[in-house]
Amino acid sequence: MLSLKCSDAGFDCKQTMKGNSREEVINQAREHGKRDHNLKDSDFSPELVNKIESLIVESKE
Ligand SMILES: [Zn+2]
Repeated sequence: MLSLKCSDAGFDCKQTMKGNSREEVINQAREHGKRDHNLKDSDFSPELVNKIESLIVESKE
């Protein structure tokens, strides 16, 4: 399982995204960002997606 902490991406937020693939985690981050942080699709630049991807870690569960 892969996971990503929203706080690691610089938000004051306790949400953790989890998924079986990097794409799944990034999609969740995208949905979460739009729903809870007022981000738009246009905010997810290649740079931001790269940054998010670099923050994904392997988690135990
Ligand atoms: Zn968040």
